Amino acid sequence: MPEPILQIQALDAHYGDFQALYGVDMEVSEGEVLAIIGSNGAGKTTLMRSITGLLSNGPSQIKYRSEDISGLRADEVAMRGLAMVPEGRQLFPSLSVRENLMIGAQVGRKGPWTLDEVYKLFPILDERKDQQSTSLSGGQQQMVAIGRALMANPDLILFDEISLGLAPIIIKDIYDALPGIIGEGMSAIIVEQDISKALSVSSRVYCLQEGRVSLEGASDTVSREDISRAYFGIE
Ligand code: ATP
Repeated sequence: MPEPILQIQALDAHYGDFQALYGVDMEVSEGEVLAIIGSNGAGKTTLMRSITGLLSNGPSQIKYRSEDISGLRADEVAMRGLAMVPEGRQLFPSLSVRENLMIGAQVGRKGPWTLDEVYKLFPILDERKDQQSTSLSGGQQQMVAIGRALMANPDLILFDEISLGLAPIIIKDIYDALPGIIGEGMSAIIVEQDISKALSVSSRVYCLQEGRVSLEGASDTVSREDISRAYFGIE
């Protein structure tokens, strides 16, 4: 079994008095693609925000390459090699495509991903590099969000619902690009509402239900029944 790149132990998360995560345990191995599924409000985004330092968490709950990263700020987490493609893309609307991509380089590290490499992956972004990001289609904006995360040269990349609100043909394009993105040993966590997609790209899957892990298993062996039970809480 390869060394875990990320270990989460007994992670709780709160918004004021509301508790969104309860004692979540999770591990990602080096080079692994992990999928996280779960219905609306199950806590998937909260988990991603906790890992990347956007939500504060208690001591010793999150370890990255065996070092405690709980309580670090988002920029400190990014410098260690974690990057997120956030739900809803969250681009800077007044900046150009190129400027949005460069933000990833500023918060992250040096490595193989450069503007040229991102343009090779998504040639349309090269054509549109001087346009404001808001003038792009939803799918193209998602490519910018992915490119921005890659520009940080992460070892672990988190995708939060990359297909949300996109046309099927665009979703296919983005998923077709994933092996080229994740190759070369990069690890990934993919949050996805489309269960078949999640299972097809991952080696292991976790399901969250009302803030708790309701299922953990190998993506090619979990049964539909197990998933239905874990996802909806029904027999
Ligand atoms: P979705 O698919 O809808 O994004 P999710 O699984 O990502 O769902 P979260 O967004 O993590 O779920 O939300 C988990 C719970 O925390 C939900 O009950 C949600 O209403 C609540 N929540 C999320 N963000 C906040 C916030 N900023 N303030 C208060 N409660 C929040």
